[in-house]
Amino acid sequence: MTDAKTALVISAHAADFVWRCGGAIALHSEQGYRVTVVCLSFGERGESAKLWKQPGMTLQKVKDVRKAEAERAAEALGVHDLIAFDMGDYPLEFTRDAKDRLVDVMRAVQPSFLLSHSQYDPYNTDHMLTTQVVLECRSTAQAWGHNPGQKVLGAPQLYLFEPHQTEQMGWKPDTFLDITPVWSKKRAAIECMEGQEHLWDFYTRVAQNRANHFTRNSGGQSGGRDCKYAEGFQSIFPRTVDEL
Ligand SMILES: [Zn+2]
Repeated sequence: MTDAKTALVISAHAADFVWRCGGAIALHSEQGYRVTVVCLSFGERGESAKLWKQPGMTLQKVKDVRKAEAERAAEALGVHDLIAFDMGDYPLEFTRDAKDRLVDVMRAVQPSFLLSHSQYDPYNTDHMLTTQVVLECRSTAQAWGHNPGQKVLGAPQLYLFEPHQTEQMGWKPDTFLDITPVWSKKRAAIECMEGQEHLWDFYTRVAQNRANHFTRNSGGQSGGRDCKYAEGFQSIFPRTVDEL
């Protein structure tokens, strides 16, 4: 056991943690957090179109490529532990064992905060199912009667990272994180996703736009902090504070 702070990311597919919270991972890793990323699947069926267009492609080959990309991206971001559940995607399906495994990870990691998908995503039901199950597992991990004797989970915030078609998801950010100091790490991780090159510049622009919101909400032209790249998050739970 160490006293290091920890964070836990639950990513439906292998690349989601890169586009949506790669900056948060790199920033907290530099701050001494041990960041664990659970990839429930490699996105092998639904988020690997470019690979499937190659002749002779097989499911195993796609999984191998996506796994290697995710590992390289995780290294670029300073991920402490990348755990692949390899559950399959499109559709992602949770067995009771898979849920219990996620509860075990939550209890073992004891994260200061959790990161996962938007609650609504009609384009990608794997994403919204993931968040529903994350909430279920967070509750189970807090239950003293579940596997008595294990250390129960506290009440980590669940931050929902930015979905792909933002306005369609009912996702409304209430937190902006300045990731300017680690942008080069996020861009390097993005470029590990060779099968989705069409998204590299899109997610660069997303980060630049969120930076504008960071600046505006930190005071705008009246002394707002400058920011070049940011990520937005929607928090689920209230905060408990000593000062406003
Ligand atoms: Zn995904």
